[in-house]
Amino acid sequence: MGKPRIVILGAGYAGIMTAVTLQKKLRLDDAEIQLINKHAYHYQTTWLHENAAGTLADERTKIAIDQLIDPRKIEFIQDTVTHIDVDEKKINLVQSELDYDYLVVALGFEMETFQIPGLKEYSLSMGTSNQAKILREQVESQFATYTNTGANTHPLTIVVGGGGFTGVEYLGELTDQLSNLCKAHNVKQENVKIITVEAAPTVMPGFDSELGEYAMQYLEERGVEFRLGTKVKIVKRDYIVVEKAGAVEEIPTSAFIWSAGVRANKIMEKSGISNNKGSVKVNADLRAPGYHNVFVIGDCALIYSEDGETYPPTAQMTMQEAKVCASNLVKLMKGDVNLDAFYFKDRGTIASLGRKDAIGNIFNNRKTFGKEAIVLKQIIDNRVLYQIGGWPLLFKKGKFKLFH
Ligand SMILES: Cc1cc2nc3c(=O)[nH]c(=O)nc-3n(C[C@H](O)[C@H](O)[C@H](O)COP(=O)(O)OP(=O)(O)OC[C@H]3O[C@@H](n4cnc5c(N)ncnc54)[C@H](O)[C@@H]3O)c2cc1C
Repeated sequence: MGKPRIVILGAGYAGIMTAVTLQKKLRLDDAEIQLINKHAYHYQTTWLHENAAGTLADERTKIAIDQLIDPRKIEFIQDTVTHIDVDEKKINLVQSELDYDYLVVALGFEMETFQIPGLKEYSLSMGTSNQAKILREQVESQFATYTNTGANTHPLTIVVGGGGFTGVEYLGELTDQLSNLCKAHNVKQENVKIITVEAAPTVMPGFDSELGEYAMQYLEERGVEFRLGTKVKIVKRDYIVVEKAGAVEEIPTSAFIWSAGVRANKIMEKSGISNNKGSVKVNADLRAPGYHNVFVIGDCALIYSEDGETYPPTAQMTMQEAKVCASNLVKLMKGDVNLDAFYFKDRGTIASLGRKDAIGNIFNNRKTFGKEAIVLKQIIDNRVLYQIGGWPLLFKKGKFKLFH
């Protein structure tokens, strides 16, 4: 009998962490492992708001996959998954077809448009490394055009749809970068308007309300205007239509950035696995219901807490899932069918507000702000690098510049 074949789809936090854990735990002849990803690099998704604002170079966020994997143990295939068929145990890629004995689906998230007309066509986003790059270039081009046309009769208006975690982190970076953008393109800062439209009555819904308040005040002091309780109804090329308590208004936009929703990868919908808009309610051992050989992890997995609430998908949870998934695969390779159950260990959450401040909930819900939160955020970012690529990656890509 040949070696069992494990196929891992996606090299985000979920896929790459599963791959590097497996390569540490398995010997050369234990399994044949294939890792499939669209690009030749893994990117640190949690840093994309920095790339999008231009405060961190794109290359810092990207990590070549061949630097992370041992080619004797894992074959990397750069290709795009087009279809998963778990009944036939077949994966269609653009350039080939694969079969597997064990499958790990880690294809991550995509933008949720909530069927808002024009959102897909006219909004910018930062869900992938390429999207973050396009966002930055488009915003820069708006600054360049603003000067070139001499159109100082109307403000240069950047509107962010969504005052959640991602939107707030982006606003922190953007406000840090604003004076550089203005200087580089000869735009007066008073001619730039930054507006955030949020449907909920507070920013960072779901996060601690006091920390949300702090974030909002911090950003308001840096010129961000918040429109809370306001829904985006239509997106056009150069304006959006919003609605608050029945009152409808048009807001002109030089750039409209959507950060208000993610959903599981659409590929899951036609995979044969029971799902809700792509999200798979996985068993305790992270396997898809009804499929003993298929694990679904990361933002494609729906996981419930002990009190019956779904956990919001995060990188922190994804990394923990990947380790349990890898150790369960090792058990299966050894013929042990008593797999481990996944329990999320919440180590706290920190949101950055640019380079000079951050907010977070840590150790048993203690709130943190300012320098302590900045240091903790960097420790989290560096810890992820260490977990993925050890000391070499940490020294190469780590964040060590504490205060700017
Ligand atoms: C700007 C931003 C900031 C964030 N900040 C935080 C934070 O501070 N803390 C936190 O815990 N979480 C944060 N998150 C959420 C976190 O990034 C996600 O929960 C995490 O990335 C999920 O990991 P994943 O591996 O499931 O998916 P992803 O990171 O989306 O990785 C999926 C991978 O699959 C690849 N892929 C997708 N489709 C295909 C296909 N068809 N074929 C081949 N390959 C494919 C992609 O290229 C990618 O490499 C943030 C998210 C964003 C966007």
